[in-house]
Amino acid sequence: MADRTKGATSQVGARPPSLGDVSAPPSSFDLEPREAIILKGIAGSPGVAVGPALVLGDVRSSFIRRHVRSSQIPAEFERIKNAVSTAQRTLREVGARMPSAMREASAILDAYQLMLEDPTLHERIHYKLKIERKCAEWAVSEAGEEIVALFDGAAERDVYILERRHDIEFVCDRLLRALVGEDRSRAVRLEEPMIIVARDLSPADTASMVREPALAFVTCVGTRTSHTSIMARALEIPAVVGVADAIDQIRTGNTLVVDGLTGEVFIHPSEEMIRDARQRSEQHLAFARRLLSARHKPCITADGVPIELKANVELPAEAILAVDHGAQGIGLYRTEFLYIDRTTQPGEDEQYEVYRAIVEAVSPQPVTLRTFDIGGDKFASTFQLPAEMNPALGLRAVRLALKQPEVFLVQLRAMVRASAHGDVRIMVPMVTSVHEMREVRRLLGQAIEQVRARGQAYEEHIPLGMMIEVPAAAIMADVFAREAEFFSLGTNDLVQYALAIDRASQPLAAQASPFDPAILRLIKFVTNAGNEHGCPVSLCGAMASDPLAACLLVGLGLRELSMEAAAIPEIKEAVRRLTLQEAESIAQRALACDSADAVEELLARELAPRLIDLLAGLADA
Ligand code: PEP
Ligand code: MG
Repeated sequence: MADRTKGATSQVGARPPSLGDVSAPPSSFDLEPREAIILKGIAGSPGVAVGPALVLGDVRSSFIRRHVRSSQIPAEFERIKNAVSTAQRTLREVGARMPSAMREASAILDAYQLMLEDPTLHERIHYKLKIERKCAEWAVSEAGEEIVALFDGAAERDVYILERRHDIEFVCDRLLRALVGEDRSRAVRLEEPMIIVARDLSPADTASMVREPALAFVTCVGTRTSHTSIMARALEIPAVVGVADAIDQIRTGNTLVVDGLTGEVFIHPSEEMIRDARQRSEQHLAFARRLLSARHKPCITADGVPIELKANVELPAEAILAVDHGAQGIGLYRTEFLYIDRTTQPGEDEQYEVYRAIVEAVSPQPVTLRTFDIGGDKFASTFQLPAEMNPALGLRAVRLALKQPEVFLVQLRAMVRASAHGDVRIMVPMVTSVHEMREVRRLLGQAIEQVRARGQAYEEHIPLGMMIEVPAAAIMADVFAREAEFFSLGTNDLVQYALAIDRASQPLAAQASPFDPAILRLIKFVTNAGNEHGCPVSLCGAMASDPLAACLLVGLGLRELSMEAAAIPEIKEAVRRLTLQEAESIAQRALACDSADAVEELLARELAPRLIDLLAGLADA
């Protein structure tokens, strides 16, 4: 896991960023010879992709290039006129807010207001619109690019010309923003397979990409446990996250190689790099296919101890994928995704239908439905969440559910009704106190009573379990074992809360290691407490999908792991390669280590040689 979780963030640039990298139309690769730039990030999701970039947030790539009919031309002219006024008004407002000491900057804004009416620019825009019949955004974008291109060459040598080129870019950017509207949604529609580059991708952004031909994701922020990575792995799309300057260095249309195995992104790759990437991609796919073909082998250690592997899902469609990859049920369904990217909350019937579909797809295997985990980095606009300094420490998950019991009851009733169709378990996220578990149990009783009163079908006993992802709950596991019918260790959050490192923190990503002995000891403590008190323990954090970590977890006493479906064949293969005794011996030594690095060195020494192909994600590594 070492090199997959610990991403260096420095950028090894062979060439400074060039202002000449203006947006190219997305339909072509930029194959003109240039030196490659290598950006280093964190491997968020395995696989290797080659293709053109689409930079979100880059206004030049955020509109559809469409031709207009002659009858539409006057309306497009009107839009441009309005956009000029809007952009001028915005600049005036910015200027008016500037302190008098910044008079010089204010004068520049005045100049920009005049430039928005520049006759050369408008002549070109008019030509594009009237003769070439290009829509307003397209006309502005191309007119700007053509004028900027006139400065090419000279701008590299002359600071004055370089600044004038900046001015044109700035003015066109303001015009385009006025045309597309700054607050437009990020729903992306791809006309061809592209690599999505963004500062960040929210769960809603990523989910909206399901039906789009996205080749890979590159984000400036994020870690292996951030939601971009989790979703990308679920969708089996390669991703490199935490590439600090991706947005500054990459332009829409640039050809990229995204290596989700090493965490590298190549801009303007040479032909040799592209060939190599394609070969690695083939090798990775062949390797994944081979593992997948062995998915029905039992998941047992080399000495025959069974380990249950279940799937984490975010989207209902993934349930089929889970069965396909040999999952023995769904260990975590993140229901909050039902609440994201919409203006109204999902009703009881709608939720019931979704849960029922998942339960039926997986039956007779069990499905663990986690009640909504909203708040923190999983923001849903349908909830009126207060602005908090530290949302991860605020009104999130079960805390929010208990604050809004009516909303929570809608979800509980839908889950209770779904229990009529298979083996349903309900799990509560972010529990910190026994009071919360008791309140949830009381509300679940109420939901069951309401469903019964309507004469609807349900299962008499629905196991109620909890996530152990807050250190307080881990330390009190023996007490919680009396309140919960099962535990699931959420190490993504346990690492965040125990090590006091925001799970989305890019600068601290390397320190947020699940191999930290503090985390391993908490896992061991919870597993022991669960075993002693007859409360089954599983683990559904992202570490379960790492071959080295999975072997360590088996050694720490876990007999059930839940992970993204795509990782199941690989983890099964890892488990089958070592005996329980070996795993326990390594775990004992890991618990005695004094740092995450020491644990990783131990694992690399003891296990990596045997798992090298699984760690590299390539057959002949
Ligand atoms: C976790 O915290 O480990 C977990 C599985 O939950 P989530 O990633 O959805 O917060
Ligand atoms: Mg969590």
